[in-house]
Amino acid sequence: MKHRLLERLLLSVRVQAVEPVAPRLRRVTLAGPDLSGLSWVAGQHVRLQVADGPTGLDWVLGTLRTYTVWNLDAQGLDLVVFDHGDGPGARWARTVRPGEEVMLLKPQGTFTIRPAAYHLFAGEETAQASFGPMLAALPEDAPVFVRLEVDTPAEHLDLPRRADVGWSYRQGRPAASSETLVQAVRDLDLPAEPGIAYLAGEARTIQMIRRHLVEERSWPRRNVLTKPYWAPGRKGLD
Ligand SMILES: Cc1cc2nc3c(=O)[nH]c(=O)nc-3n(C[C@H](O)[C@H](O)[C@H](O)COP(=O)(O)OP(=O)(O)OC[C@H]3O[C@@H](n4cnc5c(N)ncnc54)[C@H](O)[C@@H]3O)c2cc1C
Repeated sequence: MKHRLLERLLLSVRVQAVEPVAPRLRRVTLAGPDLSGLSWVAGQHVRLQVADGPTGLDWVLGTLRTYTVWNLDAQGLDLVVFDHGDGPGARWARTVRPGEEVMLLKPQGTFTIRPAAYHLFAGEETAQASFGPMLAALPEDAPVFVRLEVDTPAEHLDLPRRADVGWSYRQGRPAASSETLVQAVRDLDLPAEPGIAYLAGEARTIQMIRRHLVEERSWPRRNVLTKPYWAPGRKGLD
């Protein structure tokens, strides 16, 4: 019964390649017939079975973790996974090998580009994985502001629109509640009218940046799209 349920809910693919793209970031490429004809919008994510789950809904779906689609085309589905420690997702990306089967749910999510006078992106290491495809999806002349914070310059992903990206470095400080990222956004010389903001990554930092935009810059709340990816002590945030 478990097998039939899985077949209806999940796509089955194989790992084609696992490559380091920065010291703690790996690109995992998945491929297989189940991906053919799948559509996606930049910014959407998939949920992957990274380990078995013994009870409840987990018994059917296993332990799921969420990763943004970096690219999806005829060659396969690319994800970029940040190695932050010993959670099941990070462990999966560290140990998975080409040829292994992976089950996943179709691309989903509404954290995607909206029409706007200009676009503001802010986040940390994991946010790079969604900002890359979102930046690539924007028209070349769309005004863009990007503020990213990573631990060291070695953790940059190769992002489109490089000229628009401002980086800050934590140099060992934790990513949670990062005042320096909030300050980097505060320091931006933005147009007087609000644009659309896309905030992704650690939950409390995102809240702080949202508060800055809404309270200090008087942006309408609806102009700030947030996608908390993780929070200290929380597992499998989605
Ligand atoms: C919509 C969405 C899209 C996402 N896209 C990506 C993506 O493309 N690439 C990616 O790497 N992650 C992405 N994430 C984040 C990823 O799903 C989480 O980091 C997930 O918790 C990792 O699972 P885990 O099993 O490794 O850790 P968990 O078991 O979930 O957590 C274990 C511990 O690790 C901590 N932790 C989790 N993530 C981080 C982190 N990044 N830095 C520091 N500590 C952390 C948690 O606070 C917890 O204490 C996304 C999340 C969402 C909701």
